[in-house]
Amino acid sequence: MPKIMNRRALLGTAGLVAGGLLLDGGAAHGLARPAAPDAAWAKLREGNRRWAADAAIHPHQDLARRAEVGRKQEPYAVVFSCIDSRVPPELVFDAGLGDLLSVRSAAQTIDPLVSGAVEYGPVELDTPLVVVLGHQRCGAVTAAAHALDEGTTLPGDLQRIVEALRPAYRSARGDVDRMIRVNTARTVAGLKAGKLLAPRVARGQLKIVGAYYSLDTGQITRLV
Ligand SMILES: [Zn+2]
Repeated sequence: MPKIMNRRALLGTAGLVAGGLLLDGGAAHGLARPAAPDAAWAKLREGNRRWAADAAIHPHQDLARRAEVGRKQEPYAVVFSCIDSRVPPELVFDAGLGDLLSVRSAAQTIDPLVSGAVEYGPVELDTPLVVVLGHQRCGAVTAAAHALDEGTTLPGDLQRIVEALRPAYRSARGDVDRMIRVNTARTVAGLKAGKLLAPRVARGQLKIVGAYYSLDTGQITRLV
């Protein structure tokens, strides 16, 4: 087991060097980033593997990077995830400044303001990938399932979250973990059908992926 970990750490370092070379080579033409959806997803997966293996390299978190992206950003992915304090995108994907557009709401529930925030990356910055990220033991989903089980109404705008999760509750028959996965897949389907994003998905310049983060292992698994 330690041998595997060492090899992973080594591969992570090799990736960093390759990434650095690529960045230097692309400096004259702006910031290098994965331009294709699959390359962007591969980069996120690699970052998550480092995070899960306790081999994070914390890229792009220094003064040089701050200067580099100060006047122009070219993030390679939009990550739409939960507000949960245990799922910050830059940590769980081992990314840094200028890498990700983070959109977060309780249980990644969506409304027009939120979908507008998700659309900003692909439409204005040509970001090639959107990841909708659900996570294990989501407190918002658990609270919504409980309220719907009991037929109670949560105070204030909290009830809006419950209502947004009602369709997932129905199709998951109240099972919390299934609800998390169903809600993530539903959100992906909704975004894919959006007027601005659908043509980009059809042309292959954008992918919208649904994934699940395990609090226990730190690993992210693709759902859809
Ligand atoms: Zn959550």
